[in-house]
Amino acid sequence: MSEQIRIGKVKVKTVLTKSNLPIAGYSVNPYIGCTHACKYCYACFMKRFTGHAEPWGTFLDVKYWDAIRNPQKYDGQTMIVGSVTDAYNPQEEQFCRTRAFLEEMQGSKINLIITTKSDLVLRDLDLIKNFPSPLVSWSVNTLDEKFKDDMDRAVSVGRRIAAMKKFHKEGIRTTCFISPIFPQITNVFAIIEKIKDFCDYIWLENLNLRGNFKAEIMDYIANKYADLMPLYREIYNKNDDTYWKILDREVAEYAAENGFLYVVDKEPFLRNPTGKPIIINYFYHSKIKQSAKKKEALQGVKAGNGGEEEKT
Ligand code: SF4
Repeated sequence: MSEQIRIGKVKVKTVLTKSNLPIAGYSVNPYIGCTHACKYCYACFMKRFTGHAEPWGTFLDVKYWDAIRNPQKYDGQTMIVGSVTDAYNPQEEQFCRTRAFLEEMQGSKINLIITTKSDLVLRDLDLIKNFPSPLVSWSVNTLDEKFKDDMDRAVSVGRRIAAMKKFHKEGIRTTCFISPIFPQITNVFAIIEKIKDFCDYIWLENLNLRGNFKAEIMDYIANKYADLMPLYREIYNKNDDTYWKILDREVAEYAAENGFLYVVDKEPFLRNPTGKPIIINYFYHSKIKQSAKKKEALQGVKAGNGGEEEKT
């Protein structure tokens, strides 16, 4: 990593933020910022609330919070760890704030969800296993390591998949979050074929281009995938959703032919009647997410905790 990362330290009252996200009652972000620096990061809007002028990916504030007393109070609540940061960014190895949270919550019966692009989460397998029905999700939107390297600074796709395999072997539920799907670049079917034997859920989410990163992504496509520019212009300048409708149909056909349950916009933890991963399509979630974003950002500001919302 060539760029210097500015590390800060912040004291917050709590690391738990009440969430309006459809999948969780609380979000848990032990850091502000994320050094994986994904070019398409939806969480970069956070900078508006935390007073960071530096580019996203070049700063990280390490959170220290008051001890969580009586973690059993949260029994039955769903907590998503890493909604606007990656709780297993490389700096977690040094600061261990995610591990501290998991230690504090030991003995509780929370529904734990961890989303990451890292295999550092393997370090905490011992703690994660103690929760009643944990779920760990890895974002994988390509099998092409070069494209991955162009998009983020997280560990290789190969390492993410190896970690997924290990967790699955240990009896922990796993998700492959195919997100964001880049039109004509992300090969959804190749990814499914690669991970289907050690994965419980496959969540699909389309690339949304909003905010500051739209220009950067469009420039990238123009430079590296010039032949795709007409398609990207249709989708992202003219709001044409034909590509997603076709992909939806193709996934439905693939699922029917191969015995997968395929659902659209359903809750993420459906029981699985097939013995194969359930494929859940969230292509049409952007409206839900945007309203959640506004509400949760406001809540975060009120709590003096930085606005917090869902990321990829
Ligand atoms: S998309 Fe996720 S992993 Fe990537 S920079 Fe944003 S918060 Fe970090």
